[in-house]
Order: sequence, then structure tokens, then C-alpha cells
Amino acid sequence: MSKAPLPNKIDPRRSAEQGLSYEGSLALQQMVRLASYLVGDEGAVDVSLSFGKDEEGIRYVKGEAEGTVRMLCQRCLEPVRIELKAQLNLGMVSSEEAASKLPRRYDPLVTQGDPQELYRALEDELILSLPLIAHHDDCEVKTEYRDPDAKPEDDDKVNPFSVLAQLKGDKH
Ligand SMILES: [Zn+2]
Repeated sequence: MSKAPLPNKIDPRRSAEQGLSYEGSLALQQMVRLASYLVGDEGAVDVSLSFGKDEEGIRYVKGEAEGTVRMLCQRCLEPVRIELKAQLNLGMVSSEEAASKLPRRYDPLVTQGDPQELYRALEDELILSLPLIAHHDDCEVKTEYRDPDAKPEDDDKVNPFSVLAQLKGDKH
């Protein structure tokens, strides 16, 4: 099924009834709480959301959000790029009490019809995905913050020592 662009306001329950999917970008400027952890609020995160109703009749929304943001390096106080990625797997409930009965595979989305509550939940998830302490791998070269298990991206960088060796070699 094709995905509709991300609307400004989402009615989670109706979207679930209709089995809708959305895909689009959400500006950081729309997420003031998230932006308060960042250096600047330019940019956006890519969001994809799928709504539906499971075999138990629970309305859910699954999705993910990812994007690149900048935080302040806690070592050198310069900006450092952070790759954010958050996943959502929310079951919709109408009260906190109902939330406690939700199957464990879902996080609760207590929805009372406020069209912004889903975006708030998404923003919460993004805030939780921020590193506790942002820092460059090496402040001298301002490398990007990376997860320890992320793939290295500097394979094609020239090793300064090999350049030096070549220069020396040229003199012969
Ligand atoms: Zn640094």
C-alpha cells in the first residue's frame, strides 16, 4: 500500500481503524523539547508510521524515525553530528489503567483524541535515543559520534603517514 505524506495532525484511532500508513519528514523546529538538547533546530527527521488493528482488536502504530542532529561535544564544546534512530511500537489505550493491561509487546499510547499526542510520543522516543553524553571519537579531527557497533566510514581516508612516505619516496 502506498504511504500518504505525514500530516500535521494525526488522529491515531481513526488512522488505526483505516489501516493508514504515512511517510514524511518532521522538522526539528516542531519538536521543541528535543531541540533543547541540540545545537540548533535546523533539519528534520524522516518518519514512517503504519497504523492498524491486531488480532486482539488492539489499535497500534508502528514506525520509526531517523535523522542527523547536532549536539554539543562534552569534551571540546564544538558541535558533533549524531545519528538518531527511534522505533515506535505503540498500543492505543484510553487511560493509564488500561495501559497497565496492554500486552508487553506494546508501549502504551494513552490517546484521548489530541491530534498532537502521537508526535509527542515520537519526540519522547527520539529524546530517549539521544546519547547521554555526546562527544567526538577524536576531538582533534572532529569525527562523528558513532555507536561502537556501527560500521567504520573512514576506510577511504588517506592516512597522513602514507602520504608522508610517498613524499619521501618521491625525492629518490
Ligand atoms: Zn569534541
